[in-house]
Amino acid sequence: MTQNNNKKANEKATVKSFQAPRGMHDLLPSDAPYWEKIEGVVREIAHAHDFSRLEPPILEFADLYNKTSGEESDVVEKEIYTLKTKGGDMLALRPEYTPGISRAYLQNGLSRLGQPQKLFYFGPVFRHDRPQLGRYRQFTQIGFETLAGPNDPIYDAEIISMFTDLLAELKIKDITLKINSIGCRVCRPIYKKQLVNYYKNHEKDLCENCRERLKTNPLRLLDCKEEHCIALKDKAPNFLDKLCVTCCNHFKGVLEYIGEIGISYELDHHLVRGLDYYSRTVFEMYAKGNEEIGALVGGGRYDYLMEMIGGHLTPAMGGSCGVERVIAVLRARDIAIAPKDAKRVFLAHAGDLAKKKAFLLLKDLRARGIVVAEALAKESLSAQLKVANKEGINLALILGQKEIYENNVIMRDLSTGTQEAIMLDKLPDEIKRRLK
Ligand code: AMP
Repeated sequence: MTQNNNKKANEKATVKSFQAPRGMHDLLPSDAPYWEKIEGVVREIAHAHDFSRLEPPILEFADLYNKTSGEESDVVEKEIYTLKTKGGDMLALRPEYTPGISRAYLQNGLSRLGQPQKLFYFGPVFRHDRPQLGRYRQFTQIGFETLAGPNDPIYDAEIISMFTDLLAELKIKDITLKINSIGCRVCRPIYKKQLVNYYKNHEKDLCENCRERLKTNPLRLLDCKEEHCIALKDKAPNFLDKLCVTCCNHFKGVLEYIGEIGISYELDHHLVRGLDYYSRTVFEMYAKGNEEIGALVGGGRYDYLMEMIGGHLTPAMGGSCGVERVIAVLRARDIAIAPKDAKRVFLAHAGDLAKKKAFLLLKDLRARGIVVAEALAKESLSAQLKVANKEGINLALILGQKEIYENNVIMRDLSTGTQEAIMLDKLPDEIKRRLK
């Protein structure tokens, strides 16, 4: 073997066949109808509620999350993807949207545009979590957030109702809404103390993580999934009994407003949501019978977050919904989503000159909203029509030299073989009539 051949063989041996990183998925054409449907519904709901889109960058300074979500939260402690830039900055791929939305609100002075600011987003989120059903490392969140303005429970109810509308529009019925209040900076410290006292008496029965959490973030003991810890939390003090009068009235208000519009709920005094910035209302939504997929929606009030990043105390409420989980429920329940427009016409050409004119005609028809498929790269007419057949398209347009001179096009019904010449100026209307 020559030296050159050797080199080539070595290069070949090191060529790697690539896979997407674990927990990250391709959005395939077969998934697209779901995505398009969901995006459409989100946009309609957002606009009907007068919410405007805000998309912060995917990368933020890592400290934004350390300061808001809490250094002991799972997101910051275990799941965040960070990177150090060549300039030495520590950045993070967003593990959630809320801190970025709040940062953007402050940085861009959005308060000057009127209060409250009602915002929505739709984009990728990254968490280095253990991949399993409904749990990915890159996933997509839809969010609705109301920032600033009065701290009124009606805004908590509005956010919750937007997510129930979203799921209802997607025909996902039988939703469980779990809701709780985790109080404010007046009543929460008192509750925390009682909780710590209770758990200290049972410290030896706690899992290792919870023993640690008892020192750093005792509320998190309430959402531990370990068997021993689950048994203990049933007897733990109930936050709802300890809320201060203001928080109690706020929570009553939320429940009354959602009750008023017919949303049923389950009070869940173990729901705490594990991030430092939450206060008062916290909620989650599950699809009944598909709980293994995980919560579809989660959110809550975060009145203190803006202070944590250098702003004033700013009431805020929001939530987010995972698109992949919604699609998993739609698939598990066989909920049909209309496939991409089945009403298509096929344009074929016969000859070089006709190919050029076909390209022009294609552009013209598409500009009129007609969905046109083609196989113009194939030269033989029969090869082109085979593609139409394979794609299940019944209506074909054929453009040849003769048609160009006569200013018309052959319209052929591929199921019966019947055909007629249609003048170009009548063509768009005739296609629309036949596709109806
Ligand atoms: P969270 O802030 O963790 O409550 O997330 C809000 C929503 O995002 C959840 O209710 C899920 O729908 C979705 N979600 C959270 N984590 C993941 C994940 N690892 N994979 C897919 N979706 C997720």
